[in-house]
Amino acid sequence: MKFGGTSVANVERIRQAARHVKREVEAGHEVAVVVSAMSGKTNELVGWCAEAAPMHDAREYDAVVASGEQVTAGLMAIVLSEMGIQSRSYAGWQVPIHTDDAHGSARITGIDPANLNERMSSGWVPVVTGFQGISDKNRITTLGRGGSDTSAVAVAAAVKADRCDIYTDVDGVYTTDPRIAPKAKRLDRVSFEEMLEMASLGAKVLQTRSVELAMAQGVRLVVRSTFDDPQAGNAPGSEWGMTGTLVCDEDEIMEKQIVSGVTLARAEAKITLRKVKDKPGVAAAVFGPLADARIVVDMIVQNISDDGQITDITFTVPDSEFDKAMKVLRNAPDLEYESISGSKGGAKISVVGVGMRSHAGVAASMFRALSDKGINIQLITTSEIKTSVLIDEEYAELAVRALHTYYGLDKAEG
Ligand code: ADP
Ligand code: ASP
Ligand code: MG
Repeated sequence: MKFGGTSVANVERIRQAARHVKREVEAGHEVAVVVSAMSGKTNELVGWCAEAAPMHDAREYDAVVASGEQVTAGLMAIVLSEMGIQSRSYAGWQVPIHTDDAHGSARITGIDPANLNERMSSGWVPVVTGFQGISDKNRITTLGRGGSDTSAVAVAAAVKADRCDIYTDVDGVYTTDPRIAPKAKRLDRVSFEEMLEMASLGAKVLQTRSVELAMAQGVRLVVRSTFDDPQAGNAPGSEWGMTGTLVCDEDEIMEKQIVSGVTLARAEAKITLRKVKDKPGVAAAVFGPLADARIVVDMIVQNISDDGQITDITFTVPDSEFDKAMKVLRNAPDLEYESISGSKGGAKISVVGVGMRSHAGVAASMFRALSDKGINIQLITTSEIKTSVLIDEEYAELAVRALHTYYGLDKAEG
């Protein structure tokens, strides 16, 4: 059972979260808990590091930002014990959760489940700090923002759990962010693949890596709300006693939607190189230096050239990487072009659905729906189960709501 930041934002909420744990323990389940830091805490810690020194040692950054989870793990263990449930906290290194040493975005390399299993089999509830682990150099690492989801899935896989329940401030995965589109509908089930696309395209309800890991390890995920009544029990039509969304294999989903969800990612910057040579090695000369600078490039479009000599290349990077990317390209060796231009403040809107594999025309209808609202499309990319467009950020929410309605995803009135 994993509890996110808003679910552990203060002691009273930790108590509410603990009531869910108590219910599961009383139902006879063995439970391990993973917690995030109190909401806002990690941002505060990140801010302190920046204030201390703009360029700081990533290992010390991790030592600082991992601390939020230690507080909530301890508090959760105290609250559970007070409710009569034997409980103790585990920091990442105490489990241990091994990671590589990519500080700030480390990957879990292995979890030794012995300690957790031993506790659980003797009736205890171990409470594990999310978001953190230990490198083989014996330093504390963190897994990247939103990483507690990944901790939870990894712990679930390590102890061979029947399920990994992600408790958050919404009662499931919705067709789009319910904060943007009040007409968003909760999905009863969503496939790993769709969830993976939705997460990586902006639906931050689950960290992308956690979905990747759940898919690879076959961990069944349920997204549900901490704020639902812990004793609601056996809500009609629910498989797990509460409302929620099951993230599972596609085979487990009977009715496949053409479009299951609409996502929004803000702060996408666009960069265009004009008149680069149209010859082998040019794309490598553009994207090689960006990769070396660890800049993640997202959408890429290369025009065909009229004369077979020169072409234009346009791509996107996060707004936060824009200045760095421009500098890298201006100084890139072996790269000739006539001009470079770009701008921040784009938004990527995507429609996702496994049904797209077998249905023609989804992209076309998406473009039509956007043009009906007078929204200009700057870039397009597609995969088997998604179509994404880059538009001006100003129109982002309008676009999400328009597409949501267009694909019949709005919930019924009333
Ligand atoms: P936690 O702190 O529990 O990890 P997050 O803030 O990381 O919670 O994720 C939950 C939030 O994700 C919700 O409050 C909601 O606004 C947002 N969200 C974005 N897209 C979706 C979606 N498709 N379905 C549900 N929630 C979404
Ligand atoms: N506390 C960490 C963060 O805010 C991890 C998490 O909440 O998942 O990014
Ligand atoms: Mg989260």
